[in-house]
Amino acid sequence: MNDPGPASDARLPPLKLADRLARLRVGIEEAGVEALLVTALPNVRYLTGFSGSAGVLLVTGGAAVLVTDGRYRTQAAEQLSAAGHDGTVELCVGGIQAQRDALSDATRAGTVTRLGLEADRVTWSAQRRWAEDLAPARLVPTSGVVELLRQVKDAGELVRMARAAAIADAALAEVVPLLGQKVREDEVALALDTAMRRLGAEDRAFETIVASGPNAAKPHARPTKRVIVQGDPVVVDFGAIFEGYRSDMTRTFCVGGEPAGTLARIFDVVTEAQAAGVAAVRAGVAAGDVDKACRDVIADAGWKDAFEHGTGHGVGLDIHEAPSVGPGSTAILGPDVVVTVEPGVYLAGIGGVRVEDTVVVTADGCHTLTRFSKDIAA
Ligand code: ZN
Ligand code: ZN
Repeated sequence: MNDPGPASDARLPPLKLADRLARLRVGIEEAGVEALLVTALPNVRYLTGFSGSAGVLLVTGGAAVLVTDGRYRTQAAEQLSAAGHDGTVELCVGGIQAQRDALSDATRAGTVTRLGLEADRVTWSAQRRWAEDLAPARLVPTSGVVELLRQVKDAGELVRMARAAAIADAALAEVVPLLGQKVREDEVALALDTAMRRLGAEDRAFETIVASGPNAAKPHARPTKRVIVQGDPVVVDFGAIFEGYRSDMTRTFCVGGEPAGTLARIFDVVTEAQAAGVAAVRAGVAAGDVDKACRDVIADAGWKDAFEHGTGHGVGLDIHEAPSVGPGSTAILGPDVVVTVEPGVYLAGIGGVRVEDTVVVTADGCHTLTRFSKDIAA
């Protein structure tokens, strides 16, 4: 069979959104409220398919109303319909006042007295405005109600995330040969971003990191004009977006392929730590135990203080989403939860190494979406 390539138009299974509102209503009840005002756009998209830059979704026990402005009149209707929401989500398009009135009417019609707000996603001023607009319903802070559902990916989401990861793998294969050609960090980053777009990505998943030599010791360095030279470690952390879903991968290369001294040891330890973390991923395991598997290897090597960030995070419509994989994380990993495993060691003046894969949790382990080789030679 011919390989259709990472971004071929081979039909993907459609995203099935129809049951998400029903599952959300269980979460709303568990949160002790009668309705939820969904203001975080990725949450709105997850529940309705609507991907515009402005919109609010109110979900009550018996109804759902999406409000947005005139820029999205056609798009919102099309996306609701494509998601199978004709008749289940009412669409109101208009100016600010019309949107407020529609939400207020729906709150009253649902006789909502306790209305959940996404407390982690709302500004103070917005909260005050909602309190006025939606009175007499009382606002109740909620946290992570939609995010909890989003942790577990369905087949349609997983195939899109795999596609995003495959695009990133193919882009990196194109760009690695540049590293030995005396190019600047920002040139490498631009080449990666361009390759991902050409291969079918909608965009990069976040600002691409290319950090070489001493810059590799900064976990979240921005690409600079520094020219990459022989012997440099080069941390490349990047991802693609495909139909809204993101990938996330880090590889660290050594230009010339032969790290010396302490740097060689860092490469070995981080590679071992990352493998230990991936090996610890399994349904039923606490996210904190995956972190510990990585951290123990690095601590045993004497570099406990040189690994100052968490081991990983959930990925999906957002680049960082639940669950977080850090020290003491109590979230229990379940099947089809997608997380990254990305330990690193960073020593100022020497450099740094991070290795990251995005993996899908299974009953007895995980499978890796980010497939690019871990060969450090470049
Ligand atoms: Zn990353
Ligand atoms: Zn990451």
